[in-house]
Amino acid sequence: QTHLLSLSLQAKMSRPVQARRLEGIDKNIWVEFVKLAATYSTVNLGQGFPDFPPPDFLKEAFVRALSGENHMLHQYTRAFGHPPLVKILAQFFGKLLGRDLDPMTNVMVTVGAYQALFCCFQAFVDDGDEVIIIEPFFDCYEPMVKMAGGMPVFVPLRPKAPKDGKLMSSADWQLDPAELASKFSDRTKAIVLNSPNNPLGKVFSRGELEVIADLCVKYDVLCISDEVYEWLVYDGKEHIRIASLQGMWDRTVIIGSAGKTFSATGWKVGWTVGPNRLLQHLCTVHQNSVYHCATAAQEAVAQGFQRELKLYGKPESYFVQLPKELQQKRDWLVQSLDAVGMKPIIPEGTYFLVADISEFKSDVPDVPDSDEPYDSRFAKWMVKNKGLAAIPLSAFYCGAHKNNYNHFIRFCFAKEEATLKAANDILQKWKREKTNP
Ligand code: PMP
Repeated sequence: QTHLLSLSLQAKMSRPVQARRLEGIDKNIWVEFVKLAATYSTVNLGQGFPDFPPPDFLKEAFVRALSGENHMLHQYTRAFGHPPLVKILAQFFGKLLGRDLDPMTNVMVTVGAYQALFCCFQAFVDDGDEVIIIEPFFDCYEPMVKMAGGMPVFVPLRPKAPKDGKLMSSADWQLDPAELASKFSDRTKAIVLNSPNNPLGKVFSRGELEVIADLCVKYDVLCISDEVYEWLVYDGKEHIRIASLQGMWDRTVIIGSAGKTFSATGWKVGWTVGPNRLLQHLCTVHQNSVYHCATAAQEAVAQGFQRELKLYGKPESYFVQLPKELQQKRDWLVQSLDAVGMKPIIPEGTYFLVADISEFKSDVPDVPDSDEPYDSRFAKWMVKNKGLAAIPLSAFYCGAHKNNYNHFIRFCFAKEEATLKAANDILQKWKREKTNP
């Protein structure tokens, strides 16, 4: 009897099951807010994905890959990237960067940009290494650095009030060069750069990138350059690749995503481009984790890029058309928000827009001494009471800084006209109720 009892106790396992590397990273904003949006929202401008279809040429390429004669497209392909895809990516990015790229050593395909990021941190970050992250940042950088044993070091973009009562632009959020420099030391292994930046839509200027590049060279630091929104820049702005600046190619991994590039986030095709001396270590992580990405999706993305290379810079190019359409959607949302007093920060890029909720605060009571940042409570209230889903800006700050910027929410405007109109209706009605309670 005693023997059986002790066996059953043993079977329960009393020692901790969770690895130390998971401590403090169990919460995930997307899991929480995607669920809230699914339960309550009538209009979802939260998570970043288009509610319009990808272009026909891309969908047709996928259908051909699945039902065409080449049944080998249903089987494994090359682990580090389907040959037609790495070949066209090498050609395409070779053209953009003005250098010859070897498809076999300068490109690696990943399961979305997410896995590309994961490979970078696992490949480069040792216990105790510091990684500089610019706030606000795409939230997964922090837990990924921690899982690799690294120490994230945060440096904020600081907003400057615009002159003459004009609307703020994402360009008004800037790094303080002295503050940035103070974060670099011989403990720094890498910096994560995300331009165009999610959530603000900031497109870093050449001058800003040069400041970062000079510090990377001075301190011999790697640059993990998340460029998933590279085609989504507005008002004639130019996306500058930091890898093209002096001394940077050798120390930069460029990360891209077919999800954002071709409006097909569910396909989860991403890539890395960089020098072999860096990419070979990403390959080591890749071959010992996911090993391989879905073949048919890679084939279709390869065909998408083949088309785009032929049409490069022409009006029919998707990379020309998509930002044109999105700029119009941005302007609609800017107008809707401005009209009701939810002041938008005009994004120079991406399909996100951050807006100031200060004027709506009276509708959502503050809870003094609450652990939850105010914007998070506001976003939850808004989806439950108004049916409109958005993401609190504090989600894009580290724990210690979440309350520094807690009166903004992020909207995604990669949405059909009808969706944006429905959002406008909700905002207008809300405003009317506020003025005539
Ligand atoms: N980086 C940034 C800045 C993003 O916004 C996203 C997606 N929201 C990703 C990476 C991940 O991209 P993917 O869906 O290709 O994994």
